[in-house]
Amino acid sequence: LDPTGESFSNEDFEIDKALRPLSFDDFAGQQHALENLQVFVKASNLRGDALDHTLLHGPPGLGKTTLAHILANELEVNIKVTSGPVIDKPGDLAGLLTNLEERDVLFIDEIHRLSSVVEEYLYSAMEDYKIDIMIESGPNARTVEINLNPFTLIGATTRSGLLTSPMRARFGISSRLEYYSTELLTHIIQRSAGILNVPIEQQAAIEIAGRSRGTPRIANSLLRRVRDFAQIKGNGKIDMKIAKYSLNALSVDAHGLDEMDNKILRTIIDRFKGGPVGISTLATAVSENAETIEEVYEPFLIQKGFLMRTPRGREATQEAYKHLGVVKPSTNQG
Ligand code: ADP
Repeated sequence: LDPTGESFSNEDFEIDKALRPLSFDDFAGQQHALENLQVFVKASNLRGDALDHTLLHGPPGLGKTTLAHILANELEVNIKVTSGPVIDKPGDLAGLLTNLEERDVLFIDEIHRLSSVVEEYLYSAMEDYKIDIMIESGPNARTVEINLNPFTLIGATTRSGLLTSPMRARFGISSRLEYYSTELLTHIIQRSAGILNVPIEQQAAIEIAGRSRGTPRIANSLLRRVRDFAQIKGNGKIDMKIAKYSLNALSVDAHGLDEMDNKILRTIIDRFKGGPVGISTLATAVSENAETIEEVYEPFLIQKGFLMRTPRGREATQEAYKHLGVVKPSTNQG
């Protein structure tokens, strides 16, 4: 189980696609972001202009990509999908941009990872729908300015803090996605179970939802694994017993913390006296890269009240001690 969702098998990828909501109505939660986006889409459809460039930010698996596709559907336009690290040079971007039809969406995932040359090249495209392209080569090489169709750039990032300010300023709309409540995740799991055609008891759906780190991608992926257990160890139906059995077998604890979450907390407590400990020291100690800790693990641990980010580093909270069953040493040494 990989919370970054990056180690998907082909089958997982296909299922993931099938479970993806296609319209605003199918998309659960994120009410605040959604209400605004619905207004902007309606207005853009009425006027026939391109929707303003839109930035979606928040931890992985909360629905940024899904929402980009929904926006394109609701705008009734095409979507081209790419990602920051994939665009090597301005030429790659020019190819994408010149192929956009009027009002189309260009979705750039991990937009904080664009190289600075590519990013600067994007500025005039976003602002004036114009780019310079190089024609011919050698001594005849020259650049000409060409007009693009008005389009919408949708950027997604897990790290909005890493976005440069000129880039951020070019987005007219910015929406932050939040972790989902257990109730919403229960609803998502029931919807997905319906699509996958597996019977599931309400209580079992709630149990899986509560252990999904507030993240629909994890909820769906746990559901798929529990479905396997139900098929092999049970009678195909997901009830409370099989849900609990599978979640234990998958080492997901009652708070939805996975092995790495627990490892991070345990390391801070056992090896660094509860912290504060710097992020790079912590990363080395748990053998995970610092960026992944900051992007994937830390936001959830902070939201759950297990971890604090202080100017001197990361600290485990009283809750974390309680969770791991460790007595917190008294702190009168300053
Ligand atoms: P992100 O781009 O933020 O990493 P995705 O859009 O890829 O996240 O979402 C991961 C999966 O979670 C999707 O395949 C989709 O099935 C599911 N999902 C995300 N948000 C929702 C939602 N609000 N309602 C139902 N399913 C969702």
